[in-house]
Amino acid sequence: MGVPPLDRSTIWRYEDGEPGEFYYARYGSPTQAEAERALGALEGGQALLFASGTGAETCVVLGLLEPGATIALAEGCYYGTPTLFQELERWGLRYVEFDQTAAPPAGVDLVWLEAPSNPFLTMPDFEAAAAHPAKVLVDATAATPVYIKGLDRGADLVLHSATKYLTGHHDVLLGAVVARDPADAERLLAVRGRTGITASPEAAWLLHRGLKTLEVRMLRHTETATELANRLERHPAVERVRYPGFGGLLSFDVAGGEKAARAVERNLRTIANATSLGGVESTLEWRRRWEGDRVPEGLLRLSVGLEPVDGLWADLEQAL
Ligand code: PLP
Repeated sequence: MGVPPLDRSTIWRYEDGEPGEFYYARYGSPTQAEAERALGALEGGQALLFASGTGAETCVVLGLLEPGATIALAEGCYYGTPTLFQELERWGLRYVEFDQTAAPPAGVDLVWLEAPSNPFLTMPDFEAAAAHPAKVLVDATAATPVYIKGLDRGADLVLHSATKYLTGHHDVLLGAVVARDPADAERLLAVRGRTGITASPEAAWLLHRGLKTLEVRMLRHTETATELANRLERHPAVERVRYPGFGGLLSFDVAGGEKAARAVERNLRTIANATSLGGVESTLEWRRRWEGDRVPEGLLRLSVGLEPVDGLWADLEQAL
């Protein structure tokens, strides 16, 4: 209950000549710890906050894997994840992509799922992944714990770009990992402090506030996205709609490829033609500009915000 204070200090006095729980902000701060407790309680594990979702991914790889390790990565997941792994190939990291709706390949050191994948919206086979001997991480950015609690589904680690739904207003860059095993959390905490990929107190404070409205926001995102997915399915200019049945993220392919898809972007009036997802305002973009031929030419990704559904549909309809 109540609003926790926002402590912007980077240092805290020692007690009786010894550092206490908090002493230097790169290693942890009271505001960050408070938000971590709230997220950890929601997910059922030990949460740690990072400077961004990608920063959280970096700490997982550097902290929990050995040089030369191989990750089985869900095919069609957020494209920044394989981009990061490619960057780390110089340091000996390997990854293989696999169809996450089936069992992960043998002989890997970490299984990396995404629930649902962005922008293909596939859901992982959690049981098949949990039966794999390697540790399992699920990036549940688009599902949030309102729909998927990864630790309950057998994952060892849950990762979030908290930049998206957890904070929810397109005004915070933040990442989170929730660990089942306290030893993993301890290791990630050490690596976070050493690499300096920690969250700012402002971002942590906004996460704590955002969590209070998470469920009600997600329910509304789902209600509106379900309706828009149904209407898009029936639209003659739309060839395919991908929507997992929950959350605010969907993608659809327009007939006419790149030219038609980019025309939709330019025709939008109220929906923002912008990247990212998970905010109160709807955003739409042609993903091929970033992802190249890993996505269909006519694929548009829509993050459905909290605006009234009829206004959103009117904008989509006139843009199409
Ligand atoms: N994971 C998913 C599913 C994402 O959509 C994103 C960003 O779009 C990230 C991770 C990376 O998060 P951030 O942008 O906070 O670094």
